[in-house]
Amino acid sequence: MNYSQTLAQLIGGIVTGGIRVIDLTVPLAAETPVIKLPPQFAPSKSFELEEISRYDSRGPAWYWNNISCGEHTGTHFDAPIHWVTGKDYPQNATHNIPVDRFIGPACVIDVAQQARENADFLLTTEVVENWERKHGKIPEHAWVLIRTDWSRRGSAEAYLNIADDGPHTPGFHPDCVPFLARERDILGVGVETVGTDAGQAATFNPMFPCHTIMHGSNRFGLASLTNLDQLPPTGAIVIAPPLKIVNGSGSPLRVLALVPV
Ligand code: MN
Repeated sequence: MNYSQTLAQLIGGIVTGGIRVIDLTVPLAAETPVIKLPPQFAPSKSFELEEISRYDSRGPAWYWNNISCGEHTGTHFDAPIHWVTGKDYPQNATHNIPVDRFIGPACVIDVAQQARENADFLLTTEVVENWERKHGKIPEHAWVLIRTDWSRRGSAEAYLNIADDGPHTPGFHPDCVPFLARERDILGVGVETVGTDAGQAATFNPMFPCHTIMHGSNRFGLASLTNLDQLPPTGAIVIAPPLKIVNGSGSPLRVLALVPV
């Protein structure tokens, strides 16, 4: 293969529209939903924008802001160091993960119908195997994205969907995570919900299986994605580099998908 030709074709496609660039990112603002933990655990800050100056006495020709938020706010990246099971991998934080591991082919598993019918829907190995029978085996270096259409829920309340017994949002069945993390060589998983685990995952065995096993296998997570309905089951490429925070456990990021028209 002639790789300089490949790159010329890539940029040609982007410029002429043969390749569409889809934004898989939700807007980052004060009202962006943040995961709510039980009260015994420390909370994460919401996003804040603090104006430094806006073409005024504080800075006559320039506009800029200070920003603050938890690393896991809005559309964000989960690094292996985020979880105790991933803490000892050598390149496990946002500043030292090899950058080629931010880019991979997308496998999009559509369970929007199931999630619409059942907020606690869990993706099973069987669903993944059925997907593979139709679309082929999940390739190495892939991002596995779970389309639930959860990002279409209008309010933060409907999106977080918290009841007296905790949040009710779809996620991964505990048996499916070892299959994806150990029997397939993926970069990680991406979801439309506020975190990669199901709302009720604190009650699962193991607790929070996606975090426990994905990060325990040195793989990544992408949470609060949107526009997964605009991606084909295979054929798109996802680009998801987090901020280079030294020893960061994750970061808000812009996630882009390249999709052939
Ligand atoms: Mn996270």
